[in-house]
Parts: sequence; C-alpha cells; structure tokens
Amino acid sequence: MIEKKSNSGEPLTPIFTVSANHKSGFVAIVGKPNTGKSTLMNRILGEKLSITSPKPQTTRYAIKGILSEEEYQIIFIDTPGYLKPRYEMQKRMLKIWGNAFKDVDLIIFMADVNNFPSDYDLEVLEALSFLKNNQIAVFNKIDRKTDYDPKLISEKLPPSISETIFISAYLGTNVEQLLAKIVQYLPLHEPFYPQDEMSDLPMRFFAQEKIREGIFHQFGDEIPYATAVLIEKYSELPHKTVIDAQIWIEKASQKPILIGRNGANLAKIREYAERELSIFTGVPVEIHLWVKLNQNWRKKNSSLRELGFDS
Ligand code: GDP
Ligand code: MG
Repeated sequence: MIEKKSNSGEPLTPIFTVSANHKSGFVAIVGKPNTGKSTLMNRILGEKLSITSPKPQTTRYAIKGILSEEEYQIIFIDTPGYLKPRYEMQKRMLKIWGNAFKDVDLIIFMADVNNFPSDYDLEVLEALSFLKNNQIAVFNKIDRKTDYDPKLISEKLPPSISETIFISAYLGTNVEQLLAKIVQYLPLHEPFYPQDEMSDLPMRFFAQEKIREGIFHQFGDEIPYATAVLIEKYSELPHKTVIDAQIWIEKASQKPILIGRNGANLAKIREYAERELSIFTGVPVEIHLWVKLNQNWRKKNSSLRELGFDS
C-alpha cells in the first residue's frame, strides 16, 4: 500500500473497505489558457473549484480536484500557468514537465477545436511527444463549431496521444464519455485520499481562488499576476468558517497598492471573498488577510511547492 500523508502530516488510514477492482490515479490537464480546462473540471466535479474567466491564466497552480466514486477515484491536476512553453527553453520545459508529470497516470491535452492548432498547441504537443505517460486529446467548444474534421485534426497529433474526443465542457456534451475513457487509464488501486476529501482540500483551493478573484475585481492587470494566495488555516467552526490567508507580493512597492488607503483595497478583497464563500458554504465566513513580501516567488521552487505546484 502506498502511504500518503494528509495535509497535517499524519498518515491517512483507510477507514473504508473498497472492492478489489477499484481504480485510482492522477490526471493532468494541459493546454493553452482559455481552452476550458477549469470549466471541464468544474463540470466533472460539480462544484466551482477554480476560476473560470475570460482572462487568460487565472489558474496558476496545480489545483487538484478529487472525484470519488464507488468504483474509482480520479485526482485531477489543473495546469499551472507557469508552464508557458513559449517562454521556456524547450529543454528546461521538458525537465519541468517530466518532473511535474512523473507520477501522472494520464495527461489530457486540451485544445479549442475552433482554433487548433495554435503555435502554443504545437509546442505543447511537441513536448508531450517526449513523455511516456498515457495521453489523450480533448477538443473543446464543439458547441461553437460544427464543421470540424476529426480525421484532419487527429493527423496533427503525435503518436504519444492514443485517443481523441470532442466535447463541450460548457454544455456537458460527451463529458460522460470522456470520464469513462479517463477511468480506463487508471490503474487498479485503492483510493489515495479518503472518499470525503471533497469537503476540505478543495474548499481550501476554492477559498484561494475566491480571494484571487477578489484581487482581480479590485485591480487591473499587473497586481493580480504579481500576487499569489496561500491559505494558512481553514477552520470549520460550528457557526462559521474562519480562514487565514497570506497574499504574496513580489515587490515592496506593491504592498501599499494592495492594501490601499487605510486598508480599503484589502477590505474590499476580503469582503468579496467572504460574501462569495458564505453564499457557497451557507455559513458566515470570516477571512483574515496578511500581505507578505516574497520576492520573486514565481521563480522560487519552495514557494511553488507551498502553493501546491509540486506537492
Ligand atoms: P482555462 O483557461 O483553460 O481554464 O479556461 P476556462 O475554463 O477558464 O474557460 C475560458 C473561457 O471559455 C470561459 O469564458 C468559458 O466559459 C469558455 N468555455 C469553456 N468551455 C467552453 C465550451 O465548451 N464552449 C464554449 N462556447 N465556451 C467554453
Ligand atoms: Mg483555468
């Protein structure tokens, strides 16, 4: 049995019995920003776990959503926006990807059927062709295009990709079929996480994303991309939820901007996230925010790990 540690560091003891043909594994979704990766995750998991927005690259960390069913458990890893092939040397990118996807059972290459192949798609596909993981291709947004040629599209895919499916994450078209395909690629294994993990781990991510959304609402472009949110504490008390979170900034000069006059900006961010989260959870939510200078957090490995990039 593989030993997994919980967030608090204690070993997780299986508290349930599972059938011998239970499957469980890790699935990564990679692809250009705005292709609908978050939308697909949300549809599959049935809850809004990561931000969907028309702004590219709002999802920057390896957000894991866990789908636990009686017969299988899928642990999803959303694509971190760090993996921007265009700005990475091919070799370095391959190294990063090789590491990030080391234990991943299936990589889903996702593209928008309406503008495939973009340069970005081609670079991702090239990188994937070097990886040994199982790979399938998902073409999204078929609701916007009805005249695509599956054969022509498939010809542009490297041999490392074994199957192709066309979906609309937005409408849910073929999403059940995709799910069935994913399960085929999972190894026989007992669940890696307790089957009720939905309730805490993803809630932390959800809180993280809501705070980030608040930052996006409050500021234009520059500040949101220079910040990251780390949830330090997520406590579900009997009548309220209390969340402590750090907002990381890259430069000292960003601090007064983020905080605002008499803390006005920070208060708006906090109020937004509190409101959104309490609607979602049905209980009052109290958030405490700290702004922390973490120079060049984007480039630091330990920082990326803390954010869940490499966990
Ligand atoms: P991500 O950057 O890959 O995570 O993409 P998002 O999930 O944030 O989606 C980007 C945009 O595409 C959003 O405005 C979505 O509503 C939209 N979108 C996602 N899936 C579909 C789809 O199947 N059809 C259409 N028409 N739009 C979609
Ligand atoms: Mg996304």
